Amino acid sequence: MFDPSDPPVPSRRSAANGLVIREVRCRSLLNTCDIGDYSFNCYVGCSHNCGYCYARFMQRFHPHEEPWGTFVDVKVNAVQALSRQLRRLEPGSVFTCSACDGWQPLEREYRLTRECCRLLLDAGFQLTVLTKSNLVLRDLDVFKGREVCVGVTITTPDESWARIWEPGASAVAARCEVLKQARAAGLETAVMFGPLLPGISDTDEALARLFRLAREARVGRIWTDGLNLRSGVWPSVQQVLRQHRPELLEQYRQILFEPAFRREYRRHLKQRIAKARRNMWR
Ligand code: SF4
Repeated sequence: MFDPSDPPVPSRRSAANGLVIREVRCRSLLNTCDIGDYSFNCYVGCSHNCGYCYARFMQRFHPHEEPWGTFVDVKVNAVQALSRQLRRLEPGSVFTCSACDGWQPLEREYRLTRECCRLLLDAGFQLTVLTKSNLVLRDLDVFKGREVCVGVTITTPDESWARIWEPGASAVAARCEVLKQARAAGLETAVMFGPLLPGISDTDEALARLFRLAREARVGRIWTDGLNLRSGVWPSVQQVLRQHRPELLEQYRQILFEPAFRREYRRHLKQRIAKARRNMWR
């Protein structure tokens, strides 16, 4: 049941950049999650529009005629829905966000992720934030003094590759700044290096640069992830490669579709990551 205090019914509008925005309502917000006890997403869709985005699977549950990355549904009653759920839930750990970036540009206007984080923290939940946006710095005042780990994802240390693969996200330098400021605010910090892009950000040189960034930001935790074949990423990965690095297409195809090749690739990648991690303090 919707609460009478919920905001009005769905509407639709388009931003100047062609993004299709719909205001929708949700029945509940917090879901159980593999990464923490719970996760939440105030938006369906993500205008960061990363070429490798795994969250495309959301289109199976929320079909849209627009391609992934070009629409965002805004759950305008997210705060009210969460508030109702919190009346009957025990506090636990919350990962935000699992299927969108909670600090994508629309959040500047809607402030839903911010208010949901505030509600959760007031109710005694712990938060792990993962974003590619420096808009999260706006919310350090909400996080300060609470059990919050502020994490950013960095796929490549190279700004020009980041713009190609993650056209809507903040620059790499801005994401590093998030780590520095969160740490200065006394918060735990983390960085996710992933998905590491074969031939682009999985090389010894790129890994060394990534770990150097982590060292400079004095980040608390470092996670890594290889490229996975999840939720139909291949067509969009192919599209980016065709345009910018066609010679890598065959290698990506083998990693994604040939299990033996993938096992061997991941074994080598693990070794290269371990080496970069060992060398980061030298
Ligand atoms: S920031 Fe995350 S959810 Fe958004 S498009 Fe990129 S990978 Fe997908």
